[in-house]
Amino acid sequence: MDSFEKLKAVSEHMGLEPTGEQTYTQPSLPNTHQVAACGAVIKKDPVQSKLGRSIGELGVSNAVVSGGKTIPLLKTMMTTACERNCFYCPFRAGRNSFRRQTFKPDEMAKTFMQIHKAGKVEGLFLSSGIIKGSVTTQDKIIETAEILRNKYRFRGYIHLKVMPGVEKDQVRRSMELATRLSVNLEAPNDKRLAMLAPKKQFVEELVRPLQWIDEIRRNELPQRSWNGRWASSVTQFVVGAVGESDLELLSTSEMMIKRYKLQRVYFSSFHPIKDTPFEHLPAQDLMRQHRLYQSSFLFRDYGYDLEEMPFDQTGNLPLGEDPKIAWAKHNLSDNPAEINTADRQLLLRIPGIGPKGADKIMQARTRGSISDVNHLKKLGVVTKRLEPYVLLNGRRPEKQLRLF
Ligand code: SF4
Repeated sequence: MDSFEKLKAVSEHMGLEPTGEQTYTQPSLPNTHQVAACGAVIKKDPVQSKLGRSIGELGVSNAVVSGGKTIPLLKTMMTTACERNCFYCPFRAGRNSFRRQTFKPDEMAKTFMQIHKAGKVEGLFLSSGIIKGSVTTQDKIIETAEILRNKYRFRGYIHLKVMPGVEKDQVRRSMELATRLSVNLEAPNDKRLAMLAPKKQFVEELVRPLQWIDEIRRNELPQRSWNGRWASSVTQFVVGAVGESDLELLSTSEMMIKRYKLQRVYFSSFHPIKDTPFEHLPAQDLMRQHRLYQSSFLFRDYGYDLEEMPFDQTGNLPLGEDPKIAWAKHNLSDNPAEINTADRQLLLRIPGIGPKGADKIMQARTRGSISDVNHLKKLGVVTKRLEPYVLLNGRRPEKQLRLF
Protein backbone atom coordinates (compact mmCIF):
# COMPACT_ATOMS: atom_id res chain seq x y z
CA MET A 1 0.00 0.00 0.00
CA ASP A 2 1.49 3.38 -0.95
CA SER A 3 1.51 6.39 1.37
CA PHE A 4 -1.53 7.97 -0.29
CA GLU A 5 -3.53 4.77 0.05
CA LYS A 6 -2.55 4.75 3.73
CA LEU A 7 -3.69 8.35 4.18
CA LYS A 8 -7.00 7.45 2.57
CA ALA A 9 -7.40 4.47 4.89
CA VAL A 10 -6.67 6.67 7.94
CA SER A 11 -9.17 9.25 6.75
CA GLU A 12 -11.93 6.66 6.33
CA HIS A 13 -11.80 5.78 10.01
CA MET A 14 -11.25 9.18 11.51
CA GLY A 15 -14.06 10.87 13.34
CA LEU A 16 -14.53 14.56 13.36
CA GLU A 17 -12.91 17.20 15.40
CA PRO A 18 -13.39 20.84 14.51
CA THR A 19 -10.08 22.64 14.36
CA GLY A 20 -10.98 26.08 13.11
CA GLU A 21 -11.72 29.43 14.66
CA GLN A 22 -15.38 30.35 14.87
CA THR A 23 -17.52 33.20 16.11
CA TYR A 24 -20.50 33.51 18.43
CA THR A 25 -22.98 33.71 15.56
CA GLN A 26 -21.33 30.93 13.54
CA PRO A 27 -19.78 28.79 16.22
CA SER A 28 -20.15 25.39 14.62
CA LEU A 29 -21.51 23.62 11.63
CA PRO A 30 -24.41 21.45 12.80
CA ASN A 31 -25.00 18.35 10.69
CA THR A 32 -21.51 18.36 9.21
CA HIS A 33 -19.68 16.91 12.19
CA GLN A 34 -19.62 13.45 13.56
CA VAL A 35 -17.41 12.76 16.46
CA ALA A 36 -14.84 10.24 17.48
CA ALA A 37 -11.64 10.48 19.44
CA CYS A 38 -8.46 11.51 17.71
CA GLY A 39 -10.10 12.50 14.46
CA ALA A 40 -10.64 15.52 12.32
CA VAL A 41 -13.26 17.29 10.24
CA ILE A 42 -13.69 15.46 6.99
CA LYS A 43 -15.50 17.32 4.25
CA LYS A 44 -15.24 15.40 1.02
CA ASP A 45 -13.72 17.54 -1.66
CA PRO A 46 -15.01 16.67 -5.12
CA VAL A 47 -11.97 18.20 -6.79
CA GLN A 48 -9.62 15.55 -8.08
CA SER A 49 -6.10 16.52 -7.20
CA LYS A 50 -3.03 16.33 -9.32
CA LEU A 51 -2.27 13.32 -7.19
CA GLY A 52 -5.03 11.39 -8.92
CA ARG A 53 -7.23 11.19 -5.86
CA SER A 54 -9.92 13.29 -4.27
CA ILE A 55 -8.04 15.31 -1.69
CA GLY A 56 -11.05 14.94 0.64
CA GLU A 57 -10.41 11.20 0.57
CA LEU A 58 -6.91 11.82 1.87
CA GLY A 59 -8.24 13.78 4.85
CA VAL A 60 -7.92 17.33 3.51
CA SER A 61 -10.60 19.80 4.53
CA ASN A 62 -10.88 23.54 4.89
CA ALA A 63 -10.27 25.01 8.34
CA VAL A 64 -10.33 28.58 9.56
CA VAL A 65 -7.10 29.17 11.48
CA SER A 66 -6.01 32.00 13.80
CA GLY A 67 -6.46 35.37 12.15
CA GLY A 68 -9.59 34.23 10.29
CA LYS A 69 -7.81 32.77 7.25
CA THR A 70 -9.30 29.61 5.71
CA ILE A 71 -6.75 27.05 4.60
CA PRO A 72 -6.88 23.46 3.33
CA LEU A 73 -5.56 21.27 6.12
CA LEU A 74 -4.41 17.66 6.00
CA LYS A 75 -5.80 16.01 9.13
CA THR A 76 -4.26 12.67 9.78
CA MET A 77 -2.55 10.33 12.24
CA MET A 78 0.90 8.82 12.65
CA THR A 79 -0.79 5.53 13.43
CA THR A 80 -4.32 4.23 13.79
CA ALA A 81 -3.06 1.50 16.14
CA CYS A 82 -3.46 2.16 19.85
CA GLU A 83 -2.74 0.33 23.07
CA ARG A 84 -5.36 2.25 25.04
CA ASN A 85 -9.05 1.46 25.10
CA CYS A 86 -11.11 4.66 25.27
CA PHE A 87 -14.70 3.46 25.08
CA TYR A 88 -15.87 5.82 22.32
CA CYS A 89 -12.89 5.61 19.99
CA PRO A 90 -12.65 3.76 16.65
CA PHE A 91 -8.91 3.23 17.21
CA ARG A 92 -9.18 1.58 20.63
CA ALA A 93 -7.14 -1.54 21.31
CA GLY A 94 -8.94 -4.75 20.40
CA ARG A 95 -11.23 -3.27 17.75
CA ASN A 96 -10.43 -5.58 14.88
CA SER A 97 -12.89 -4.53 12.22
CA PHE A 98 -10.38 -2.49 10.20
CA ARG A 99 -6.76 -2.57 9.12
CA ARG A 100 -4.42 -0.32 11.12
CA GLN A 101 -2.05 2.05 9.30
CA THR A 102 1.26 3.42 10.54
CA PHE A 103 3.55 6.11 9.11
CA LYS A 104 7.21 6.68 9.88
CA PRO A 105 8.06 10.35 10.49
CA ASP A 106 9.98 10.81 7.23
CA GLU A 107 7.20 9.11 5.27
CA MET A 108 4.53 11.33 6.82
CA ALA A 109 6.58 14.50 6.24
CA LYS A 110 7.41 13.55 2.64
CA THR A 111 3.80 12.64 1.82
CA PHE A 112 2.52 15.89 3.30
CA MET A 113 5.06 17.88 1.29
CA GLN A 114 4.02 16.13 -1.94
CA ILE A 115 0.41 17.21 -1.36
CA HIS A 116 1.57 20.68 -0.34
CA LYS A 117 3.76 21.07 -3.44
CA ALA A 118 0.78 20.00 -5.59
CA GLY A 119 -0.96 23.08 -4.14
CA LYS A 120 -3.64 21.08 -2.34
CA VAL A 121 -2.85 21.68 1.29
CA GLU A 122 -1.42 24.53 3.36
CA GLY A 123 -1.34 23.06 6.83
CA LEU A 124 -1.09 19.85 8.84
CA PHE A 125 -3.13 18.61 11.78
CA LEU A 126 -1.28 15.62 13.20
CA SER A 127 -2.58 13.21 15.82
CA SER A 128 -1.81 9.60 16.66
CA GLY A 129 -2.89 6.46 18.41
CA ILE A 130 -0.52 5.42 21.21
CA ILE A 131 1.96 2.59 20.61
CA LYS A 132 4.92 1.78 22.91
CA GLY A 133 3.78 4.48 25.30
CA SER A 134 2.97 8.16 24.99
CA VAL A 135 6.60 9.33 25.13
CA THR A 136 7.64 7.20 22.13
CA THR A 137 4.52 8.26 20.23
CA GLN A 138 5.09 11.96 20.93
CA ASP A 139 8.70 11.59 19.77
CA LYS A 140 7.41 10.43 16.39
CA ILE A 141 5.03 13.40 16.15
CA ILE A 142 7.88 15.75 17.07
CA GLU A 143 10.26 14.13 14.60
CA THR A 144 7.73 14.59 11.80
CA ALA A 145 7.37 18.28 12.62
CA GLU A 146 11.18 18.67 12.84
CA ILE A 147 11.59 17.17 9.37
CA LEU A 148 8.95 19.52 8.00
CA ARG A 149 10.44 22.62 9.61
CA ASN A 150 14.16 21.79 9.21
CA LYS A 151 14.56 19.57 6.14
CA TYR A 152 11.67 20.85 4.01
CA ARG A 153 11.65 24.40 5.44
CA PHE A 154 7.86 24.29 5.73
CA ARG A 155 6.72 27.61 7.22
CA GLY A 156 2.97 26.99 7.29
CA TYR A 157 0.42 25.92 9.89
CA ILE A 158 1.11 22.80 11.97
CA HIS A 159 -1.30 21.67 14.67
CA LEU A 160 0.14 18.88 16.83
CA LYS A 161 -1.66 16.70 19.32
CA VAL A 162 0.01 16.22 22.69
CA MET A 163 -0.40 12.62 23.82
CA PRO A 164 -1.61 11.96 27.37
CA GLY A 165 1.29 11.50 29.79
CA VAL A 166 4.17 13.03 27.81
CA GLU A 167 7.25 14.68 29.35
CA LYS A 168 7.72 18.41 29.84
CA ASP A 169 10.65 18.59 27.40
CA GLN A 170 8.42 17.06 24.73
CA VAL A 171 5.76 19.66 25.39
CA ARG A 172 8.37 22.41 25.02
CA ARG A 173 9.74 20.99 21.76
CA SER A 174 6.21 20.60 20.37
CA MET A 175 5.54 24.24 21.27
CA GLU A 176 8.66 25.29 19.36
CA LEU A 177 7.63 23.44 16.20
CA ALA A 178 3.87 23.90 16.03
CA THR A 179 1.50 26.77 15.38
CA ARG A 180 -1.02 25.21 17.73
CA LEU A 181 -1.06 22.34 20.24
CA SER A 182 -4.02 20.44 21.56
CA VAL A 183 -4.25 18.46 24.75
CA ASN A 184 -7.69 16.88 24.74
CA LEU A 185 -9.28 16.61 28.16
CA GLU A 186 -12.22 14.71 26.61
CA ALA A 187 -14.22 14.92 29.89
CA PRO A 188 -14.79 17.71 32.42
CA ASN A 189 -13.37 15.86 35.44
CA ASP A 190 -11.68 12.65 36.55
CA LYS A 191 -14.95 10.89 37.36
CA ARG A 192 -16.37 11.43 33.88
CA LEU A 193 -13.04 10.63 32.24
CA ALA A 194 -12.95 7.23 33.97
CA MET A 195 -16.30 6.46 32.31
CA LEU A 196 -14.98 7.49 28.88
CA ALA A 197 -11.33 6.52 28.84
CA PRO A 198 -10.37 4.25 31.75
CA LYS A 199 -6.61 4.32 31.07
CA LYS A 200 -6.28 8.10 30.97
CA GLN A 201 -5.41 10.06 34.12
CA PHE A 202 -7.21 13.40 34.18
CA VAL A 203 -4.76 15.50 36.19
CA GLU A 204 -1.44 13.70 35.74
CA GLU A 205 -1.72 13.04 32.02
CA LEU A 206 -4.01 15.74 30.65
CA VAL A 207 -4.19 18.80 32.88
CA ARG A 208 -0.45 18.74 33.62
CA PRO A 209 0.65 19.29 29.98
CA LEU A 210 -1.74 22.25 29.76
CA GLN A 211 -0.19 23.59 32.93
CA TRP A 212 3.34 23.15 31.47
CA ILE A 213 2.38 24.94 28.27
CA ASP A 214 1.23 27.92 30.31
CA GLU A 215 4.34 27.83 32.55
CA ILE A 216 6.71 27.64 29.59
CA ARG A 217 4.91 30.48 27.82
CA ARG A 218 5.14 32.68 30.91
CA ASN A 219 8.68 31.85 32.01
CA GLU A 220 10.75 31.05 28.93
CA LEU A 221 11.65 32.85 25.73
CA PRO A 222 10.76 31.05 22.47
CA GLN A 223 14.34 31.26 21.19
CA ARG A 224 14.27 27.92 19.35
CA SER A 225 10.75 28.34 18.03
CA TRP A 226 10.34 28.15 14.22
CA ASN A 227 8.68 31.59 14.06
CA GLY A 228 9.89 33.23 17.27
CA ARG A 229 6.61 32.54 19.07
CA TRP A 230 5.19 29.80 21.26
CA ALA A 231 2.34 27.72 19.85
CA SER A 232 -1.18 28.48 21.06
CA SER A 233 -3.07 25.79 22.96
CA VAL A 234 -6.57 24.33 22.81
CA THR A 235 -8.54 21.42 24.26
CA GLN A 236 -11.57 19.36 23.36
CA PHE A 237 -14.45 17.65 25.14
CA VAL A 238 -16.57 14.74 23.97
CA VAL A 239 -20.17 15.79 24.63
CA GLY A 240 -22.99 13.53 25.71
CA ALA A 241 -21.53 10.03 26.12
CA VAL A 242 -21.32 9.74 29.90
CA GLY A 243 -24.08 11.96 31.29
CA GLU A 244 -21.99 15.04 32.01
CA SER A 245 -23.97 18.29 32.26
CA ASP A 246 -23.36 21.52 30.36
CA LEU A 247 -22.52 23.12 33.70
CA GLU A 248 -19.71 20.59 34.24
CA LEU A 249 -18.36 21.10 30.73
CA LEU A 250 -18.55 24.88 30.80
CA SER A 251 -17.16 25.31 34.31
CA THR A 252 -14.10 23.21 33.43
CA SER A 253 -13.68 24.93 30.09
CA GLU A 254 -13.95 28.42 31.64
CA MET A 255 -11.39 27.46 34.29
CA MET A 256 -8.99 26.06 31.67
CA ILE A 257 -9.27 29.16 29.48
CA LYS A 258 -8.62 31.48 32.42
CA ARG A 259 -6.00 29.44 34.23
CA TYR A 260 -3.99 28.08 31.29
CA LYS A 261 -4.75 30.74 28.66
CA LEU A 262 -6.24 28.33 26.15
CA GLN A 263 -7.03 29.96 22.86
CA ARG A 264 -10.27 28.05 22.72
CA VAL A 265 -12.18 24.92 23.66
CA TYR A 266 -13.79 22.50 21.23
CA PHE A 267 -16.97 20.57 21.92
CA SER A 268 -17.60 17.43 19.89
CA SER A 269 -20.97 15.74 20.03
CA PHE A 270 -20.70 12.06 20.76
CA HIS A 271 -21.49 9.75 17.87
CA PRO A 272 -21.54 5.98 18.47
CA ILE A 273 -18.96 3.89 16.64
CA LYS A 274 -19.68 0.26 15.74
CA ASP A 275 -17.70 -2.39 17.64
CA THR A 276 -16.99 -0.14 20.60
CA PRO A 277 -18.51 -0.42 24.12
CA PHE A 278 -20.56 2.70 23.37
CA GLU A 279 -21.98 1.48 20.06
CA HIS A 280 -25.54 1.31 21.43
CA LEU A 281 -25.57 4.78 23.02
CA PRO A 282 -27.59 7.45 21.20
CA ALA A 283 -25.80 10.13 19.20
CA GLN A 284 -25.76 13.50 20.92
CA ASP A 285 -27.93 16.30 19.54
CA LEU A 286 -25.71 18.67 17.54
CA MET A 287 -27.72 21.60 18.87
CA ARG A 288 -26.21 20.89 22.31
CA GLN A 289 -22.73 21.29 20.83
CA HIS A 290 -23.89 24.55 19.22
CA ARG A 291 -25.23 25.96 22.54
CA LEU A 292 -21.99 25.01 24.30
CA TYR A 293 -19.96 26.84 21.68
CA GLN A 294 -22.19 29.90 21.98
CA SER A 295 -21.76 29.90 25.75
CA SER A 296 -18.00 29.48 25.60
CA PHE A 297 -17.76 32.42 23.19
CA LEU A 298 -19.88 34.48 25.59
CA PHE A 299 -17.21 33.83 28.25
CA ARG A 300 -14.24 34.41 25.99
CA ASP A 301 -15.32 37.35 23.84
CA TYR A 302 -18.29 38.93 25.61
CA GLY A 303 -17.29 38.97 29.29
CA TYR A 304 -20.08 36.73 30.63
CA ASP A 305 -19.61 34.64 33.76
CA LEU A 306 -20.69 31.06 34.19
CA GLU A 307 -23.35 32.12 36.72
CA GLU A 308 -25.08 34.19 34.04
CA MET A 309 -25.82 31.21 31.80
CA PRO A 310 -29.46 30.02 31.79
CA PHE A 311 -28.83 26.51 33.19
CA ASP A 312 -31.88 24.46 34.16
CA GLN A 313 -32.11 22.39 37.34
CA THR A 314 -30.12 19.55 35.78
CA GLY A 315 -27.28 21.92 34.90
CA ASN A 316 -28.06 21.96 31.17
CA LEU A 317 -28.72 24.82 28.78
CA PRO A 318 -32.06 25.02 26.99
CA LEU A 319 -31.57 23.66 23.49
CA GLY A 320 -34.35 25.83 22.09
CA GLU A 321 -32.91 29.22 22.99
CA ASP A 322 -29.75 31.15 22.27
CA PRO A 323 -28.11 31.74 25.70
CA LYS A 324 -27.49 35.42 24.96
CA ILE A 325 -31.16 36.00 24.16
CA ALA A 326 -32.18 34.02 27.25
CA TRP A 327 -29.98 36.31 29.37
CA ALA A 328 -31.40 39.44 27.70
CA LYS A 329 -35.02 38.32 28.14
CA HIS A 330 -34.42 37.77 31.83
CA ASN A 331 -32.38 40.89 32.50
CA LEU A 332 -33.21 43.54 29.89
CA SER A 333 -36.87 43.06 28.95
CA ASP A 334 -38.11 45.19 31.86
CA ASN A 335 -34.91 47.12 32.33
CA PRO A 336 -33.69 48.01 28.82
CA ALA A 337 -30.15 49.28 28.22
CA GLU A 338 -29.69 52.88 27.03
CA ILE A 339 -27.57 52.64 23.89
CA ASN A 340 -26.14 56.14 24.43
CA THR A 341 -24.79 55.51 27.91
CA ALA A 342 -24.27 51.74 28.27
CA ASP A 343 -20.67 50.73 28.86
CA ARG A 344 -19.00 48.25 26.48
CA GLN A 345 -19.70 45.30 28.77
CA LEU A 346 -23.42 46.04 28.76
CA LEU A 347 -23.50 46.73 25.00
CA LEU A 348 -22.02 43.28 24.45
CA ARG A 349 -24.91 41.73 26.38
CA ILE A 350 -27.49 43.16 23.98
CA PRO A 351 -28.62 40.66 21.29
CA GLY A 352 -27.48 41.79 17.83
CA ILE A 353 -24.38 43.61 19.14
CA GLY A 354 -21.02 41.87 18.91
CA PRO A 355 -17.52 43.15 19.78
CA LYS A 356 -17.19 45.09 16.51
CA GLY A 357 -20.69 46.57 16.82
CA ALA A 358 -20.01 47.65 20.42
CA ASP A 359 -16.81 49.41 19.34
CA LYS A 360 -18.59 51.17 16.47
CA ILE A 361 -21.39 52.35 18.77
CA MET A 362 -18.87 53.74 21.25
CA GLN A 363 -17.02 55.57 18.46
CA ALA A 364 -20.27 56.94 17.02
CA ARG A 365 -21.30 58.27 20.45
CA THR A 366 -18.21 60.50 20.52
CA ARG A 367 -19.69 62.31 17.48
CA GLY A 368 -23.19 62.75 18.93
CA SER A 369 -26.11 60.76 20.34
CA ILE A 370 -27.68 57.81 18.58
CA SER A 371 -31.38 58.52 18.37
CA ASP A 372 -32.84 56.07 15.86
CA VAL A 373 -32.49 52.50 14.65
CA ASN A 374 -31.40 53.57 11.17
CA HIS A 375 -28.29 55.05 12.70
CA LEU A 376 -27.59 51.70 14.36
CA LYS A 377 -28.24 49.87 11.08
CA LYS A 378 -25.64 52.05 9.38
CA LEU A 379 -23.18 50.92 12.05
CA GLY A 380 -23.84 47.30 11.02
CA VAL A 381 -25.96 46.35 14.05
CA VAL A 382 -28.78 43.80 13.63
CA THR A 383 -31.48 46.07 14.99
CA LYS A 384 -34.38 43.62 14.85
CA ARG A 385 -32.79 41.48 17.55
CA LEU A 386 -31.97 44.34 19.90
CA GLU A 387 -35.22 46.32 19.77
CA PRO A 388 -36.93 44.63 22.78
CA TYR A 389 -33.92 45.27 25.00
CA VAL A 390 -32.77 48.86 24.42
CA LEU A 391 -33.63 52.53 24.71
CA LEU A 392 -32.50 55.24 22.30
CA ASN A 393 -32.40 58.55 24.13
CA GLY A 394 -34.84 57.19 26.69
CA ARG A 395 -37.36 55.75 24.23
CA ARG A 396 -38.09 52.20 23.08
CA PRO A 397 -37.23 51.78 19.36
CA GLU A 398 -40.62 50.20 18.56
CA LYS A 399 -42.36 53.28 19.95
CA GLN A 400 -40.19 55.45 17.74
CA LEU A 401 -41.06 53.28 14.74
CA ARG A 402 -44.77 53.74 15.41
CA LEU A 403 -44.30 57.51 15.44
CA PHE A 404 -42.83 57.46 11.94
S1 SF4 B 1 -5.69 7.11 23.28
FE1 SF4 B 1 -7.89 6.67 23.33
S2 SF4 B 1 -8.79 8.31 22.07
FE2 SF4 B 1 -6.59 8.24 21.54
S3 SF4 B 1 -6.47 6.83 19.80
FE3 SF4 B 1 -6.12 5.60 21.65
S4 SF4 B 1 -8.13 4.78 22.17
FE4 SF4 B 1 -8.43 6.48 20.75
